[in-house]
Amino acid sequence: LQGKATQVSTDAQNTQQTAPGAQATYDLTLVVPCYNEADNIPLFYKTATECFENAGVKLEIVFVNDGSQDGSAQLLRRVVETARGRHAVQAVTFSRNFGKESALYAGMQAARGGAICLIDADMQQTPADALRMYRLLMESPDVDCVAACQVQRKEGFVLKLFKRAFYRTFNGMADDIAIPANVSDFRVFRRSVRDALLALPERERFSKGLFAWIGFNTLEVPYEAEQRAAGKSKWSFRKLFRYAATGIFGFTTWPLKVAIWIGSLCAVAAVVYLLAVLGEYVLYGTNVPGYPSLACLILLFGGLQLAVLGVIGEYLGRDYIENKRRPIYLAKEHLDSTQE
Ligand code: UDP
Ligand code: MG
Repeated sequence: LQGKATQVSTDAQNTQQTAPGAQATYDLTLVVPCYNEADNIPLFYKTATECFENAGVKLEIVFVNDGSQDGSAQLLRRVVETARGRHAVQAVTFSRNFGKESALYAGMQAARGGAICLIDADMQQTPADALRMYRLLMESPDVDCVAACQVQRKEGFVLKLFKRAFYRTFNGMADDIAIPANVSDFRVFRRSVRDALLALPERERFSKGLFAWIGFNTLEVPYEAEQRAAGKSKWSFRKLFRYAATGIFGFTTWPLKVAIWIGSLCAVAAVVYLLAVLGEYVLYGTNVPGYPSLACLILLFGGLQLAVLGVIGEYLGRDYIENKRRPIYLAKEHLDSTQE
């Protein structure tokens, strides 16, 4: 079995594959990020190939193994071998866990389809739904992207509450763009949309925001997420929180300017207070109360300054990471069932 197994590849080296307008070899590419999904991959492969074969759609599947520790790499080698001569299957294996966003990026880079579908490996999003969305895209020439919108989330109350709060905060804060609530990453879009997404070079990626930023005509269709076929969700609360922060800090700049307003307001308040104190002195003579208010003011301004510094630090840190221009992912293996 060959492939670029011995050579580490990165997004920067794969730019050749991203050349806009490159000829599409397949009707549709399913981009499937996998992190410890060994129990789901065979089922996904079987269901997807059957579903699209019956529909007469020329399909390609790109599995991106995001540093799984459950033997997925070996399993994928077998899947690619099985697919040889029958189905077009690529398997990209990362050198470690880079996160779903990086996996989606690598998958889109490798995709050779005229349309691309981002779909999870856990069967929460069914290939049958993907086929419906693909057909819808083909029937609607003005639509560039069909996005699945979760009608009813089968999630806990607290998580739902946090997600709603996130959407409200994001849309209230973000410069220029708004993301519709409940739109998932489960999407089928034209190759032009994929090219636009790949042209955005940021390392800290937040798909929902990127999709909103690039524009294009998006059609939302309702869908209901199934239960996971096997395993459990890879998102911990901490991971989700960090992801939300990436979204907010990645698409806003005004918190950086908030210090101007707070500072100006405080300066005006200080002048007013000074005048009041002076007036009191002139009218009633010397008076030295006010240690508590002094302490309060020192604390208030100390706190404000630190908070503002913290906000600046958040942006500075992100800028620092982006400026290193490290690759979005490192792949240690890239297999392709259509190549020798
Ligand atoms: N995933 C990934 N890298 C990660 C976390 C998740 O590639 O670091 C993949 C995972 O294997 C699955 C998809 O992203 O195919 C969605 O993850 P999950 O099902 O855990 O999320 P949920 O459906 O609970 O939102
Ligand atoms: Mg899932």
